Amino acid sequence: MHPLLEKKGFIIDVDGVIGRGKKPIKEGVEGVKKLMEIGKKIIFVSNNSTRSRRIMLQRFRDYGLKMNEDQLLIATYATAKFIAREKPNAKVYTTGEEGLREELRLAGLEIVDYRDAEYLVVGSNRGINFQIMTEALRLCLEEDVRYIATNPDKTFPAEDGPIPGTGMIIGALYWMTGRMPDIIVGKPSKVIMEEALRILNLKAEDVAVIGDQIDVDVAAGKTIGAATVLVLSGVTTRENLDEMIQKFGKPDYVLEHLGELVEGQ
Ligand SMILES: [Mg+2]
Repeated sequence: MHPLLEKKGFIIDVDGVIGRGKKPIKEGVEGVKKLMEIGKKIIFVSNNSTRSRRIMLQRFRDYGLKMNEDQLLIATYATAKFIAREKPNAKVYTTGEEGLREELRLAGLEIVDYRDAEYLVVGSNRGINFQIMTEALRLCLEEDVRYIATNPDKTFPAEDGPIPGTGMIIGALYWMTGRMPDIIVGKPSKVIMEEALRILNLKAEDVAVIGDQIDVDVAAGKTIGAATVLVLSGVTTRENLDEMIQKFGKPDYVLEHLGELVEGQ
């Protein structure tokens, strides 16, 4: 039995672990099913900043995994939750897409014209334009406006090559104003990981964090002091593993894929 099966819960990344875009990673999906069968608590944590949980659940169903909404912690939802806890019913302006807007509204926040906003919420937007950037810029220049970013991802590995991540907007705002977000919610930030522990109702020593990127998932696991597992089914491969470890540090365990954890179970 793998020593990590002593743990009560698993915080698992989505892209590169159980799927790549629309395609499931078979071993990852089967591994998750097995973990659930043997009674482990599971929560998926994703830095995705364009999808709501509702949209994401459909993707999981397409992968062949039936999950509940409370087993999905996406940067969109975690950001909405964080703001709602800090200031219930806050007035927010967002650069984000409908998935993020949906979660902000569900958390009781009011999406307003930028002139009335108390929060600037930066999330990725595939339809970003000059007007949105102008409004975000003006808010960013207001010191009393709280600036929250859903996630720090510079780029995102799409099926046909890299595409801009939320970093495109954070970077542009920084270049224009010299200001970085007051809070970044997504991995490797502690904010989303502590929310995951809260939902699992477990302590960090009782969970393992699994992902395909050392600087994102393993680093996130380390911020809460949990055991960390790198899987080689996504961004990190056998070929670039040594380079990644040298650059970003060493995970506690390295597996070919998540299924390896439950082999023989
Ligand atoms: Mg990933």
